[in-house]
Amino acid sequence: MASAAVRARMVQKLAAQGIADARVLQALGTVERHGFVDSALVNQAYEDTSLPIGLGQTISKPSVVARMVELLLGAPALVGKPQDKLGRVLDIGTGCGYQAAVLSHVASEVYSIERLRGLHEKARANLRPFRLSTVHLLFGDGRLGYPKGAPYAGIVAAAGGEDIPATWIEQLAVGGRIVAPMQSANGGQALVVIDKNARGTERRMLEPVHFVPLKSGIA
Ligand code: SAH
Repeated sequence: MASAAVRARMVQKLAAQGIADARVLQALGTVERHGFVDSALVNQAYEDTSLPIGLGQTISKPSVVARMVELLLGAPALVGKPQDKLGRVLDIGTGCGYQAAVLSHVASEVYSIERLRGLHEKARANLRPFRLSTVHLLFGDGRLGYPKGAPYAGIVAAAGGEDIPATWIEQLAVGGRIVAPMQSANGGQALVVIDKNARGTERRMLEPVHFVPLKSGIA
């Protein structure tokens, strides 16, 4: 498959849909999404669709990954710095590892945590050929964060719960940003952005989204 051309077309569509950050478009144009899905789904790898990755979980659609990474790069500490990378990022819900790979292009270090051992191992196998030395895969409950990597310039979650765990806010650096799905007032789910500054935190609810549930414990 001439994947570079197919990816370039995907990136053009993302730009037409309003993704404007060059760092995000560059990252999605680089990471070979077809390396993260089952061979039977490779032909769909660059369509704007979520795909099954096993154990009842899904890889998020490219437009949603792009949107969340773009929001993350809007963290207070990066305002007015359109070329800078984020510092350390915590990625909750590794899944197949695709988003962790994308994040490695826009952040200095990526700590990515998964609660399902089968997917943690699948992500390890998927990422191996890319030799991304700044991606650290962790097996554990992401609701607890990962204190050893804290404080984080950004925290991004691919699974949504009723609340944003207090540990994430504790482990976020001043000037950092959390981007995560969360239950909204109408019982659906919406993206929430939380910024941390010297005075405290600011929270904004954005558009509705559909992510798998954020669960507790490991399995
Ligand atoms: N970013 C992933 C998306 C995977 S779907 C990708 O690119 O493929 C979300 C993942 O979150 C699932 O694999 C699910 O098992 C995981 N998850 C749910 N609750 C979690 C928790 N408390 N800690 C860590 N991972 C969790």
